[in-house]
Amino acid sequence: MHFKSSITSPQETGAVRKEWGGRLPVLLVYPDTYRAGMSNLAVHVLYGILNGIGDVVCERCFWRKGQEAPVSIEGGRGAGDFSVIAFSVSFETDYINVVDFLRAAGLGIFAAGRTHGPVVIAGGIAVTLDPEPIADFVDACIIGEAEGLVDRVIDVVHGGIRKGLAKEEVLQMLDDIRGVYVPSFYRVEYDAGDAIAGIHHRYKDGKKVRRHLADSLERVSSTVIYTADTTFSGMHLQEISRGCAYRCRFCIAGYAYLPPRSRDIRSLQEDLAALPLGVRRVGIVSPMVTDYPHLTELLDHVHARGLTASLSSLRADSAELLGISSADVSTDQFSAALAPETGTYRLRKVLNKQMSDDHIMRAVDVLSGLRVNTLKLYFLIGVPTETDEDVAAIAALALRVKKRLRTGKGRVSVSINPLIPKPFTPFQWLGVIGPDHVRHRLGIVRGLLKGSGIRVEWEKHYLLQAVLSRGDRRLADFLVYMAGTDRPVSTALKESGVDIGRYAFKRYGQDEALPWDFMDYGFDKAFLWKEYSLGLKGVVTPPCRPEACTLCGVCAV
Ligand code: SF4
Repeated sequence: MHFKSSITSPQETGAVRKEWGGRLPVLLVYPDTYRAGMSNLAVHVLYGILNGIGDVVCERCFWRKGQEAPVSIEGGRGAGDFSVIAFSVSFETDYINVVDFLRAAGLGIFAAGRTHGPVVIAGGIAVTLDPEPIADFVDACIIGEAEGLVDRVIDVVHGGIRKGLAKEEVLQMLDDIRGVYVPSFYRVEYDAGDAIAGIHHRYKDGKKVRRHLADSLERVSSTVIYTADTTFSGMHLQEISRGCAYRCRFCIAGYAYLPPRSRDIRSLQEDLAALPLGVRRVGIVSPMVTDYPHLTELLDHVHARGLTASLSSLRADSAELLGISSADVSTDQFSAALAPETGTYRLRKVLNKQMSDDHIMRAVDVLSGLRVNTLKLYFLIGVPTETDEDVAAIAALALRVKKRLRTGKGRVSVSINPLIPKPFTPFQWLGVIGPDHVRHRLGIVRGLLKGSGIRVEWEKHYLLQAVLSRGDRRLADFLVYMAGTDRPVSTALKESGVDIGRYAFKRYGQDEALPWDFMDYGFDKAFLWKEYSLGLKGVVTPPCRPEACTLCGVCAV
C-alpha cells in the first residue's frame, strides 16, 4: 500500500528507486529522526550494501515516537509491504522507538505473535553490545559488523521466501550463521535471587553467538546519499579505520571493534577521486584519525582534489596531531573537542588513557593554530577510585585550557557524563553512580567554575541509558511502557517501577553471569577481568600491535 510519507520529498542526491517486481523488499528503519539517521554513517553503509544486491529493493524509514504512520521515504509504502524490516540501532535509548515503530506499523509488537509477515532484524552497535532488552520484539539480531554478513542474511531470507518456508524455518537457517542471534532460540535461567544464571541455546548445547567481523573495510563505508538535512551537510563522510588501538577501559571503540584495522590508502584515494560534483568537504571518520598511518598522504590527496578535510577525532597525545597545520583541515572548522576524560593523570591511567596534562596543553596550542575558537572538553565522573580531588581537577584543567586557547574569545565548555560501564569492556562489572553522587560531583565542578564563563553540561538521562545498555529481556514491559508514555524520562523511569538497582547500579562479582555472556567476541572474560584489575591499580597496558600481539587473542582468531 502507498501512504504519504511524513518526510515529503527530502532534497537528496543518491537515493535509489528500484522497481519492486521480483525483488526482496527491505525496509531499513533508523529509530530516530531523518536528520539523526542521515547523519549516521551506518545507515549509509547498510543502504549501500542492501541496494547493491541486485534482487533487493531497500527503502528507508525514520521513526521517532509520536510521528504519524511509518512509511518509506522512497515509495511511501507501509511497513507491512516489506518482507524484511531492518533496524539500525546505534543508541540503546532508541530501543523505545523500535517498540513504538512496531506498534505504529501494526505488525504486532512481540515476535512470538508474528508467525507470519516481515522478518524483523536489528543490528547496530547498541544491539551488538546487548540485544537482550529487545529480545522479545525482534526475530533476529546482527551481532558485529554488517559487511559480509548482511548479504548472507538477506540471501537466506530471500531463499526461504522463494521456497515458501515458514518464518520459523527461515530463523533456523539464520541461527546457523556466525554473527546472527535468534533470541527465541535461547532460554534464560535465573538463580534463587532472580539474577541471571545463564542464557542457553534451546537445541544446541553450549552454542554461543560469535561476533561477526567485516571480511574487508574496502567496500562501502562512506556517504551514499547527500542531503542538506544532516549534521554533515555538504560533506562526504569517509571511514578510514575501525577499532581503536589504545583500548581505554570504558570505551566501546577500543573493545567492540577489536582488532584495529585501517583501510588501504590506494582504495581510499580511488574512492575520493569518484566523489560526486558539488562535494567540497571530506569528513574523515575514525575512532582515532591521527593514528591512521597514511594520514599525511590522505590529506595531501584531499587537497590536491580541491577539497577540504574535516577530522572527526583527535587524540591530544598523538604526535601526528602536532604536525597538522591549518592548511590540512577545513577552515570553517572553528570548533573542536578534546576528551581528557578525567581531571588528573592518575585517574586517566585507571582508564588506560596515557594522556598527560602537558599533552592536552600542547593539543590546545595546535588547535589555537588551527583557528579553533570553541573547544568542548569531555569528562567522565564515577570512574573507579575517583576522589573529590580528582573531580576538582576537572575544573582546574578546564580553566587552564581556557587561559591557553588563544583564538577569538576562546570559548570553552565542559561536558560531564557519568561513566556507563558497557558490555565487553573491562569495566563491564561496574555499576553507574547514583544521582546523589552525580549532584555532589557536579556541585564541585560548577562551584569552582562559577564566574569563569565556562559552560557545564551533563547527560541527564544517564540512568535510562545505563538500564538499557546493561539490561536483560525482563525489560520488555518497561520498553512497552516507555513507548506508550508521554511523561518526561525521569518521571517515567520512576513510575515504570523498573529495577534501576538491578540494571544500572549493580556491581557484578567476577564469577557472576552477565546478561551478555552468551555472546563470544573472540576474547575471554579473564582478559577483561585482568584489564579491570590493572585499571583499579592505575596500571596502564600498551596499545594494540596486531602484527605482534596475542594479548586478547582476537588477532589469532
Ligand atoms: S591481540 Fe593484541 S593487537 Fe590484537 S586486538 Fe588483542 S590486544 Fe589488540
